[in-house]
Amino acid sequence: MEEERVIGTEQGTADTGEGSLRPLTLDDFTGQRQACENLRVFVQAAQSRGEAMDHVLLYGPPGLGKTTLAQIVARELGVGFRATSGPVLAKAGDLAALLTNLEPRDVLFIDEIHRLSPAIEEVLYPAMEDFQLDLIIGEGPAARSIRIDLNPFTLVGATTRSGLITTPLRDRFGIPLRLNFYSEEELKGIIRRGAGVLGANLTEDGATEIARRSRGTPRVAGRLLRRVRDFASVGGVESIDAENADRALNRLEVDKIGLDSMDRRYLSCIADNYRGGPVGVETMAAALSEQRDTIEEVVEPYLMQMGLLMRTPRGRMLADKAYKHLGLSAPKGRDIPDLFEDNVEN
Ligand code: ADP
Repeated sequence: MEEERVIGTEQGTADTGEGSLRPLTLDDFTGQRQACENLRVFVQAAQSRGEAMDHVLLYGPPGLGKTTLAQIVARELGVGFRATSGPVLAKAGDLAALLTNLEPRDVLFIDEIHRLSPAIEEVLYPAMEDFQLDLIIGEGPAARSIRIDLNPFTLVGATTRSGLITTPLRDRFGIPLRLNFYSEEELKGIIRRGAGVLGANLTEDGATEIARRSRGTPRVAGRLLRRVRDFASVGGVESIDAENADRALNRLEVDKIGLDSMDRRYLSCIADNYRGGPVGVETMAAALSEQRDTIEEVVEPYLMQMGLLMRTPRGRMLADKAYKHLGLSAPKGRDIPDLFEDNVEN
C-alpha cells in the first residue's frame, strides 16, 4: 500500500471526524481575501433577489480550501449541499439522478471537474444554462428524447488543473475564482485556530515554525499540527514551542522550508541524473515511479512557487536556489532560457 505523505495534500482521514478544523463561515475562513470578498457580494446579491447564485469555478492546487469554500457558500446561502466528483460520475443517469433531486437554489459541488467524461459534460451544459435536462430514453428506433425541468441550482466546480477544462464548460461558469498558496501569516492564523479546536497549547513561535513548513497549504498545516501535537503529548511536552515543533517536524522529514523526502528526491533526481534539466515530466514520473498527475498537481506547484523549479518549453529545470537548498553547487555553463512558462496551474 502506498504510504500517505505527511505533507501530502490529498485528503486523508485526519481531515475529518472528531475535532474537524474546517471553517464553517466566510468570517472563519482565513486568507484568500479577494475570493472571499467577492463570494460574499455574490451570496448577498443572490439572496436579496431570491435566486440561485451563479455557477462558481474554484481552481488551484489541492488542499487550499476549495471543498471548504463550496460548503461555506451553501451554508451562507442557507441551502442544501450535495457533493460528487468528476471520476465518480460514470453515466449520464448518475448526474441526472443528482440533478433531479436538488431542491431549489441548492449547491451541487463537483470536485475534479476536469475529469468529467465528454458524455456527462453534454448533459451538464443545458442543466447549467437553462436548468433543463435532455435525456435519451431507450435505444434504436424506439429511442426518444425527453426534457425535464430542474430546480435552479448553483454548481460549484473545483479543479487543480484549470487548463484541462474544456472551453464550453469553463464559459458556463459565471464566477471563476483562483485560490493561491497561503502566506506564512495566514497559515499561522489557521494553525492557532486549529490548536484552539484541538485543545493544544501552542506558543507564538511554535505556530510560526509549523506555518513556515506547511507548504503554503492549510491541509498540510492541519496535518502537521496534529502530528506535532502527537509527539508533544507522548513526550510529555506541556506547551509546544518552536524547538518542540522543529524536533517533531525533523522526525517527520519535513525540512526548514516545508519540503519532504519526495520533494527532495524530485530535486536531487534532476540535479544528479539530468544535470539540472531540462527534463520532461514523463521522464520524471518514470524515474520516481510516481503518477504524472501527482507530480504536476502536488509536487511541482509548490517547488515553482518557492522559486526552486522552472517549467520551460523544453522541460523542467532546477533554479540555482534548488542547488543551494540541496547543498550542491550548480554546474557551470547551464543554458537557462530567458523565457519560461510561469503557469503554476494549467
Ligand atoms: P481542497 O478542496 O482545495 O483540496 P479542502 O477544502 O478540502 O481543500 O481543505 C483542506 C483542509 O484544509 C480542510 O480540512 C480545512 O480544514 C482546511 N482549510 C482549508 N482552507 C482553510 C482556511 N482558509 N482556513 C482554515 N482551514 C482551512
